[in-house]
Formats: sequence, structure tokens, C-alpha cells
Amino acid sequence: MSGEGSFEVLRRDPRAEWIARNRLHPLHGTINVGEEAEVRGPSGLIRKNPHKVGFIGPNGIKRIDRLKGNATAAGLGRRSSGPQEVQLPLHAVENPDFYIVVVPDLVGGRLTSQDKDVLGQAHKLVKGIDGEGAVVAVCFGESKEEGYDTAGVDRLIHLGGEEYEGFAPEQRLAALMQVEAQLQPKHWLFPDSVHGGADLGSRLAARLSERPAVQAWQVDHASTVSRGASGSKDIQRATPRILLLAEECADPIDETRHEAQAIELAAIPLTITRLKDQGQVAVDPNAIPLAEAEFILSAGNGIHNWEQFHEAAEVLGATEGASRVAVDDGFMPRFRQVGATGTWVTARVYIAVGISGAIQHMQGIGQCDKVIAINSDAGCDMVKRAALSAIGDSEEVLAELIKLMQAHKAEQAEGGDQNAA
Ligand SMILES: Cc1cc2nc3c(=O)[nH]c(=O)nc-3n(C[C@H](O)[C@H](O)[C@H](O)COP(=O)(O)OP(=O)(O)OC[C@H]3O[C@@H](n4cnc5c(N)ncnc54)[C@H](O)[C@@H]3O)c2cc1C
Repeated sequence: MSGEGSFEVLRRDPRAEWIARNRLHPLHGTINVGEEAEVRGPSGLIRKNPHKVGFIGPNGIKRIDRLKGNATAAGLGRRSSGPQEVQLPLHAVENPDFYIVVVPDLVGGRLTSQDKDVLGQAHKLVKGIDGEGAVVAVCFGESKEEGYDTAGVDRLIHLGGEEYEGFAPEQRLAALMQVEAQLQPKHWLFPDSVHGGADLGSRLAARLSERPAVQAWQVDHASTVSRGASGSKDIQRATPRILLLAEECADPIDETRHEAQAIELAAIPLTITRLKDQGQVAVDPNAIPLAEAEFILSAGNGIHNWEQFHEAAEVLGATEGASRVAVDDGFMPRFRQVGATGTWVTARVYIAVGISGAIQHMQGIGQCDKVIAINSDAGCDMVKRAALSAIGDSEEVLAELIKLMQAHKAEQAEGGDQNAA
């Protein structure tokens, strides 16, 4: 924390740190590991400053880059001032023999981790079928996603019109029927989720009079294993054409880049819609079950002002979570506990305030997309796991966060009033 009203945010690049630690990585030589450790003294002799050799790794241990100065000779390129974007090999499909279509949920305009698993599954299926196949993603509504290529999308159909916004299953189904007619996909893959995938996949299956596999989690081109009987049984059957896939059904794509080439659809008829989307209803974030919450503010032993913590959760619109210590000490109810012996959460954003990052807690947040740590200890395990950390006293950081949120809300309200006038 520095100065009143502002605090410094240290942004780390875990990938660059990993490359800097990994001397065998092809880009290792491009990472600048620190200030000059060698200078020529007045007598002409090279002097080494041992304090400037190497860099501090994320676990707080000093690391020495033994290739420093030899990177060029080793054919690893020249040093630059910052990390470079790694260019993954391009997987191109020029004339696909067949298509596998994925309809991602695109929550908030971005691919969810389940969407990425489903794209990974699509490529697994492509490999099991003769001929060259392409994975097509059909995306509806506003898209803020920039990583279709690295998520495994060979072809992209983006339908962003007003008629596809919000809950519009009838119009979306009409578009899927057009895709069916135009591409005749070998398989249709949907995330089996509450975000629309399960609904749309079931509607398409009903329209095509096909029996889909739901909660499918082990799929190859021949057979599919689905979870049944409330998750207590596995049901095996021949792989159907329409699959509604469970989370972690496959590994997401991470070693190739794809073309994400746009495909145009022929005109899609406007359907007569009987369903009317009345917009989203504000809900109490604490009424959302912890396992389904998208945004969690979680409290640990480093919280000393509980009233302020609850206020922060309310202002941020976050669901409250807690470490076991916070629960055992009686500050939070048992059902708020996150971790191995609590709830396993899948939030897109998980803010851990004053939580050290014990293994039992980490097990519960393994599925979270972005972890933010607020902690006074820069070396704790939660800070190592986090994509963003605010190092400082939890009370001070939360006070600042509350102030910022209130200012932001006031600004928005002012903007709304001006628009109304
Ligand atoms: C069988 C078993 C099962 C368990 N299951 C779970 C589980 O499901 N979930 C779980 O959470 N734990 C579980 N635990 C407990 C776990 O091992 C840890 O003890 C617990 O997670 C620690 O909670 P904590 O991080 O809140 O507290 P601590 O470990 O005490 O950490 C407190 C953190 O707050 C920071 N801090 C302190 N003061 C401040 C301040 N003023 N401002 C900012 N930061 C501050 C400290 O730097 C520290 O990082 C389990 C343990 C066992 C043995």
C-alpha cells in the first residue's frame, strides 16, 4: 500500500516467470532476468556483482540463469526487454471432409472453461474419424472472446444480431437448423450446463428426433460414458450424434493454434417467438449456492473487521466464501467453507482475502478461472496461485475497494440520470 487513496498493484506474468525458470524453454533466452550483473571496473577488469545475478522466483528462492550471455551462441535468440508471445504451431484444415459443431455457452461473451473442454473433446472426436475434420464453433450474442484460435476453433460462425441476444432459444434453434442443413455435422457438442447449453442441446435433439447423451464425460468416436442416476452411476452407450458434455470431459487445447476462419450462413428465417426474455433479475449473491457462484469474495484468518468484509461483499455483489479457520472460529457458517472438506467452487473470479493457501483450501478452488489474493504476506501460497495480488493489510485494501466501487456506482448513476434527462 502506498499513500492515502491509492495502492500499488504488482502485476506478475506467471508464464514469463515460468519461461525464465525453465532453461530448456525455447524462449528462455528472450527473457530479461535483471540488471547488469557484470561491469568493467576502472582498472579494466570485469567485476561481478553477486547481488544482481539471477532473479527471485515466485517461491521466494533466488534463481540464476546460467545461460546469461550465451543465449545467442546457444541459438536461443537475443535478449529483449520483455517476454514474447509464444507462437503455437498452426493447425490448418483447408478442405474439411466433415465438421464437428460446438455451441459454446459464451458466458459474458467469453468461452467458459467448460466450453474449452468441449472444444478439446471435439478435436478428440476429429482424430477418431477418417478424413480431415474441422471444429466449428457457433457463437450467439455479444462476443468479447479473443482466443478462439488457441481454444481450437477451426471455423467460426458468429451470430451477433439482436434477435440472438439473451434467452432466445427459438431463434437460436432456427440458426442451428440452418447449420445442420448447410454443414451436416458428424457431431453436435454442447456444454451440459445451466448457461444455455443443456437447454439448446435438448431442443435441437428434440427437433431432429435424436436421442442425445447427457452428462457425457468419457467420449470417443465409438462409445460414450454418461453420468446417470444423480451422478451415482455410469451409463455406457454407442456415441450418438448429439452430445451434452459434462465439465472436464476432455483437456482443453493448449498446444496448437487454429484458424478460427469465419463461415457465412445462408439467410436464417426469423422465427415467431413465443418466449419473451424479460431480462435478468437481480438476485442476492448470497442466495446463490457456493458451488454455482461466478464471483466469490472469500475470507480467512487475515480478516479482522468482519462487518467491513460483509459490506465489501455486498458492494461488489459477490457471494461470500470462507476458509476453514474462519468457519471454525465461528465468523462464518459451515456451508460457506471452501476447500477439500467444504465446497469445491468453480467461480470465474475468486478473491481470497487473508487466506494463506493451504493445500486443503487450494483443492477447493482448483477450477476457478481467476484468483485474486489480498494478503499481507507476499510469499504465501495464495499469492503464488493468484493472477493478481494486492499486498497489504486486508482492512486497508477492502476499504479502498469499497471506496472505488461506490465511486464507480455513483458515476454510473450520474451517467444514467444524464441519459434520462
Ligand atoms: C483434514 C483437513 C481438512 C481441511 N479442510 C479445509 C478446507 O476444506 N478448507 C480450508 O480452507 N481449510 C481446510 N483445512 C485447514 C487448512 O489446512 C488451513 O489451516 C486453513 O485453510 C487456513 O486458513 P487461513 O488461510 O484462513 O488461515 P491462516 O493459515 O492462518 O492464514 C491467514 C492468512 O492471512 C494473512 N493475513 C494475516 N493478517 C492479515 C491482514 N491483516 N491483512 C491481510 N492478510 C493477513 C496471513 O499472511 C496468512 O496468509 C483442513 C485441514 C485439515 C487437516
